[in-house]
Amino acid sequence: MTRLRRIAARAGASLALGVAPLAAQTVPTPESVLGHRIGEDFYLATYEESIDYFQRLDAASDRLQLREVGRTSFGRPVYIALVSSAANLANLDRLRSIWQALAHPRSLDDAEAHRLATEGKALVWIDGGLHATEVAHAQHTLQLAYDLVTGDSDPEIARILDDVVLLLWPSINPDGQTLVADWYRSNVGTPYETAPVPFLYQKYIGHDNNRDGYMLGQIESRYVTRVARAWEPQIIYNHHQSAPFPTRIWIPPFAEPISPFVHPLMWRTVNLIGMAMSTALEERGQRGATHMGTGFDDWYPGFIDHANSFHNVASLLTETALYRYATPGFYTIDDFPDGSRDLRPQSLYSSPWEGGWWRLRDAVDYMLTASTSVLDVAAKYKTDLLYNRYQAGRDVIAHYTSNPPYAYFIPERQRDPVAAVELLRRLAFNGIEVDQLTGSVTQDGIELPIGTWVIRMDQEFANYVRQLFDFQDYPDLREYPEGPPDQPYDMAGWTLPEQMGVRVIEASSPLEDEVLDAMMPVIGNALPWDADVDDASPFDSALGVGFDSNPVAAGLLPPGGNVTGSGPALLVDPGQNNAFKAINRAWATGARVAFVPGEPGEEGAPGTSGHYAISGLGDANRMVLELTLQATRGPAGSAIRRPRIGLYRPYSPSIDEGWTRWLLERFGFEFASLYNPDVLTGRLRERYDVIVLADMSSRQMLEGFAPGSVPGRYAGGLGETGVRELDRFVRDGGTLVCLNGSSRFAIERLHLPVRDVTRGLARDEYFQSGSIVEMIVDPSHPVMSGMPERARVIVEGSPVFTTEEGFEGEVMARYADEGSPLVSGYLLGAEHVRGYAAAVDVRHGDGRVLLLGMRPQWRGQPFGNFRILFNAALYTSEVASTAPANPGFWTRPDADDEAGGG
Ligand SMILES: [Zn+2]
Repeated sequence: MTRLRRIAARAGASLALGVAPLAAQTVPTPESVLGHRIGEDFYLATYEESIDYFQRLDAASDRLQLREVGRTSFGRPVYIALVSSAANLANLDRLRSIWQALAHPRSLDDAEAHRLATEGKALVWIDGGLHATEVAHAQHTLQLAYDLVTGDSDPEIARILDDVVLLLWPSINPDGQTLVADWYRSNVGTPYETAPVPFLYQKYIGHDNNRDGYMLGQIESRYVTRVARAWEPQIIYNHHQSAPFPTRIWIPPFAEPISPFVHPLMWRTVNLIGMAMSTALEERGQRGATHMGTGFDDWYPGFIDHANSFHNVASLLTETALYRYATPGFYTIDDFPDGSRDLRPQSLYSSPWEGGWWRLRDAVDYMLTASTSVLDVAAKYKTDLLYNRYQAGRDVIAHYTSNPPYAYFIPERQRDPVAAVELLRRLAFNGIEVDQLTGSVTQDGIELPIGTWVIRMDQEFANYVRQLFDFQDYPDLREYPEGPPDQPYDMAGWTLPEQMGVRVIEASSPLEDEVLDAMMPVIGNALPWDADVDDASPFDSALGVGFDSNPVAAGLLPPGGNVTGSGPALLVDPGQNNAFKAINRAWATGARVAFVPGEPGEEGAPGTSGHYAISGLGDANRMVLELTLQATRGPAGSAIRRPRIGLYRPYSPSIDEGWTRWLLERFGFEFASLYNPDVLTGRLRERYDVIVLADMSSRQMLEGFAPGSVPGRYAGGLGETGVRELDRFVRDGGTLVCLNGSSRFAIERLHLPVRDVTRGLARDEYFQSGSIVEMIVDPSHPVMSGMPERARVIVEGSPVFTTEEGFEGEVMARYADEGSPLVSGYLLGAEHVRGYAAAVDVRHGDGRVLLLGMRPQWRGQPFGNFRILFNAALYTSEVASTAPANPGFWTRPDADDEAGGG
């Protein structure tokens, strides 16, 4: 047993008593700075305390450098630490140029790559996690740093320091670390010691903070991505803490299915690391590591670690056991689920955990072993890791040089030209090279106008684009033959051009010479990998797209704003998302806004879209230019009042509420958060015109946290009183917007004459999980203004509606009578939804309830759907009264059944 193993197996405090190498006499222990041992019962370090410690390490040791890399959503400075031998840290510029060269292999040949792989050192990213209630990982990073900096008398650590540079994030969610530590401190020693946190631990999106890896909506996702591309590690290891009980740590290989467009060397490397990790745990007597279970698949590319797999990085996560903050728990076999009680050793779970105490320090120790094991693998396989990074990139370039798709073309002229730029800037920020056509050309018989953007696929990160642009065909995996479908861990389909409403053309044959001749890189196409990573204010550009700090991204601009026609008002098309920024900006400056309805269709066909008219604006032209609007001028129409909008915000936190809040803020909506007391005190109609309910279960809304489980003020939900107040609000003329699951709440509790036809269907009859479907939309309904008649919409366990006796109102979107609506992802049992309604405007008293069986603002991704939420937020009784009815748009498919027997 080497000293490394003893370090990992023992508590930090005993280290100082061991054989102290020279460095340890001057380098402070965590305990000497924090006043607590890492992982001590009932103690959690905040991010500020953690950084204080890292700064002292930086000052005391030449083996660790701390660097600031950005600011969080709440404005905290964010740091990474680089840990290695003093010689390596003194040579970082050279090492970094090697990591970049191997990641971008076009200018290398195999011999040169091999030479660089031999000269270079491995770069391994380990982070202190981002799910802040999984508390152990952000504590373990302090101990890991100390152990490495002072551990060179151990031959394994000495080798790690020589052959590996560790890019260590103390935490990638600093806000969450401090919020959760403060919450826990306020409850330790009270009956609420392990009470759940009554707020999201990232400002907007809580637990979804590891699902934003390609869309990069949040600041945290952007600095994480920027660091990944600026340094190009060969391994990314992201810690989590929710192992399936009673196992003590779940470790890859990942479950099925995995993403199809990852170089196989990456999966193989992850598997190698996983097996080394469980072996290392076993060597230290740390029982209960498992590689089993079907839960943790690697299909959705938006996981913040997995998003890098497509850049040829071996990316993995682990799930260490249970969290109750720093409060110890004792478990017996009686607590185990039935199937785990026999403690039978299994091939991939060879040392079943037998129960007993489980403390924060135990989780920290398992993580220390897992992290040092990754570093040990990196040291042992250093040259292979570096060369494989080159080889994977080389292979990807070779593949798309002789296989389709050869390129993706994105024309400038789009239904919403800004959406195309939003898409391209995200790719550019993540290392994708983009060209633009300097003349009009023809490819595969398709004319491509000047200005068309081109993503050539013979580039090393092409798999990333492929994974995001391709249609997903989620495999039909069953729990057992003929059994119900396996539940995807996350989304089944996400195809970005479809979600974002961006027209993309695939090159199915090699690029014509005239296309190649007309292509020009967008501003240099070089990432500023050696620039300081200091950009974390992505929302300050007038356009609102962000990513301006990246020279490639900043060079991607939509066609300039333009106004045609004449008249007193600026007419803005809700088909362009920035129209809503314009509307909200107009109201904020005292200008007037009118809604001009569209025309209903003939004989049940979808009608034409309405639009908004802005008048009395001093600087209309400037706004058109800043927001790159394609607008016209026309009559002013009759102005509507700016709606007073409320967004329900439960104490039992809702991630979808957070995304909704974030998106409404981004587009300049003025609204209030409604907590339980705000609803329960009533008189809602006097204060609000529109109330929005995010995607939530009825139980979450009605019951909230159980009494006694959290401090009193956070307990309970809306209850019967809240239901009565919401019902009264609508009856008095308000609009209740129900996103996805909250539609079920409204149907049941407000006794609406509408039924969810998917209710009660077994999972082997009907199953739909996180996919893109096609809906037939009526754009003449104000809520659907700006939508195409055949719209691609995100659904996730979404209700599907039919109406019942007494129904008054309109169907706004429906499923086609034939075929399957599935566009990308997975859908079983399409026959159950054919012809039924997907979105309904239900009259209730003097007001309206909008039932939206979809997720139009899902994770801030479907730019082609946002306007449904935005129009809905503006859909007051005043707007509703202008809307023409389009009664033939929908016929109840089950009308005969109802007539036959009710
Ligand atoms: Zn987690």
